[in-house]
Amino acid sequence: MFAFVPGDVPYYRIPLLEDTGLVQAVFTTRLGGVSPAPYASLNLSWNRGDDPSHTQANYLRICQALGWDPQQVAQCHAVHGTQVLEASEADTGRILAPDHSPAREGDGFMTHRKGLILRQTFADCVPIFLLDPAYPAIAMLHAGWRGTVAGMAAQGVRALVQRYGSRPENILAAIGPSIHSCCFAIREDVAGPLERAFPGEGLVRQEKDGRLYGDLQRCNFLYLRAQGVLPHHIVSSGLCTACHTETFFSHRAEQGRCGTMAGMITLI
Ligand SMILES: [Zn+2]
Repeated sequence: MFAFVPGDVPYYRIPLLEDTGLVQAVFTTRLGGVSPAPYASLNLSWNRGDDPSHTQANYLRICQALGWDPQQVAQCHAVHGTQVLEASEADTGRILAPDHSPAREGDGFMTHRKGLILRQTFADCVPIFLLDPAYPAIAMLHAGWRGTVAGMAAQGVRALVQRYGSRPENILAAIGPSIHSCCFAIREDVAGPLERAFPGEGLVRQEKDGRLYGDLQRCNFLYLRAQGVLPHHIVSSGLCTACHTETFFSHRAEQGRCGTMAGMITLI
């Protein structure tokens, strides 16, 4: 499970990963920031229309709460693909730069370097955190429905295997808050690919209202399993962003007018 940490800037931590003593792994909420509606209040995105000075102030707040150097946050721009980049110094320092936008495009970051903070942003899409405690190495992945059915979770595991020689049976994984099957109403254009990813696994179901609902968190779980990650090494938050707009931003529930949270992980 994910553990809620109350305070001036609340967040969720991930005990499965943090109890190794190797990482800090967190998922932020919409609480504790300075942005006004509809970005209230801890918006961590530069490109949703919020004042950049607010986003910057929000990063400084969450980094201070976590004891992190904001200059060490590596950012890339998610494009709903499955590319996993190895983060470097060139990806950091954007938060305090005049132009805050991430330099590179990609939906996944990995590193073996201590202190480098991997970040992806979310407002319904699925956050996936990976830790190979043996190397050690980490990855932070962003999977919307396209990335989910394209196997972003599996791609992240493969990237750790190829770059760091990680063994899938050692990898610990966490699937964070996202729009869940209770709220993710879909049409055939999404239901078809989702069902075909793992036929017979119930990733799409029809409710009494006649509509189809998709389970992205479980699809990512199945991709991790298919890649050799052990079931007891995978934790899912089970949290639905659309059900809990008091705590989370939800692109779907708020008709696109909202900020974003961040999933962040760093080797310590
Ligand atoms: Zn829901």
